[in-house]
Amino acid sequence: MMQKRIAIFGSTGSIGTQALEVIAANPSLFSAEVLTAQSNDDLLIKQALQFNPNIVVIGDETRYQKVKDALAKTDIKVFAGEKALEEVAAMDCYDLMLAGIVGFAGLKPTLQAVEQGKAVALANKETLVVAGDIVMQKAIEKRVPIIPVDSEHSAIFQCLVGENLNPIDKIILTASGGPFLGKKPNFLVNVKRDHALQHPNWSMGAKITIDSATLMNKGLEMIEAKWLFNLKPDQVQVLVHPQSIIHSMVQFEDGSIKAQMGLPDMKLPIQYALAFPQRLANQFPRYDFRRPNTLNFEEPDIKTFRNLALATEALHKGGNLPCVLNAANEIAVFAFLRNRVGFLDMTDVIERTMEKVAFIGQPTLEEYFESDAEAREFAATLIHL
Ligand code: NAD
Ligand code: MG
Repeated sequence: MMQKRIAIFGSTGSIGTQALEVIAANPSLFSAEVLTAQSNDDLLIKQALQFNPNIVVIGDETRYQKVKDALAKTDIKVFAGEKALEEVAAMDCYDLMLAGIVGFAGLKPTLQAVEQGKAVALANKETLVVAGDIVMQKAIEKRVPIIPVDSEHSAIFQCLVGENLNPIDKIILTASGGPFLGKKPNFLVNVKRDHALQHPNWSMGAKITIDSATLMNKGLEMIEAKWLFNLKPDQVQVLVHPQSIIHSMVQFEDGSIKAQMGLPDMKLPIQYALAFPQRLANQFPRYDFRRPNTLNFEEPDIKTFRNLALATEALHKGGNLPCVLNAANEIAVFAFLRNRVGFLDMTDVIERTMEKVAFIGQPTLEEYFESDAEAREFAATLIHL
């Protein structure tokens, strides 16, 4: 395999740092050519000195001089600001983008990578939730592979290898259920951020950890799956599986079900996406069926975890509704992390925003941006941000 030049967008995050571990463990296969961060300048500088990329981008422009000074003795190019992310995504210096930025902010650079015909290892699920039709259409047009990093979607992708055109009957997205599995609204009403940030199986960034606690993460993943695997909404089923050993399953037309399994560790789907179609040997801990084990499954409680019901509605109605859902959710989670709204209030903010913003059946990219902005503005008024 030739050395792949990787651009890690969001290199200081949970996904980004784990991707750099994979790159460091396979220096003959991968090089980190681009690193980007929003505000964690110290870590970005440290990573740049270790990996010697071609380019670094710091999103927060007030931190530019600090990064520039720290890298003055190197020939690493330093850029700053939101526009620079898109400009660097359009450059020729890399082969594959690892899209590891969190939230709507990941959409523009990822779309730019696709536009330039670069392969994309996609962690940033919000990109597909907001504008999945446009992104996937562009990927087909440019013959760009979009390789999922999200563990469930990586599992499905792996189950589909070798199935060529065999139609999918349905996919079964597994959900851990998060830290509040089995809890009811009378408990959830008092939940605070520090409790919600403690996920039982996965260590992740703050936003997705809250999304996992509310089950919005699974809702976003249903929409992500629809676009990645070209499914009808009814073909996407969610199943709670608290141990997170089965990462997801595909049922084919003959009734046969394939599952992809392993210990919950994001380095595996990250490595798979970077090295695809190869599998690389590694020292990651392995799941051992001989040890005492139980795998449980249950239906999600969508009466309690209403975010999943709202996301399912958005999945079915389509248009700009998933974009609006996502924007309102980002505002609500941001506010919850700052102790400005309660756990259950997040759902009300999202629901009211979905009712408020006018529905558009087939939005253009500009209309997605407008819907996002309108939804954010309205959601913020509900929270008095
Ligand atoms: P994180 O918060 O740990 O890291 C986010 C990264 O994006 C950081 O490098 C940060 O500097 C950068 N960033 C944040 N806001 C930005 C902005 N406005 N502009 C530019 N850059 C910005 O998040 P994470 O947990 O690594 O998640 C990243 C993405 O991957 C999310 O979309 C998440 O849903 C998805 N994902 C994460 C995991 C996981 O295990 N962490 C699993 C599956 C999917
Ligand atoms: Mg996931």
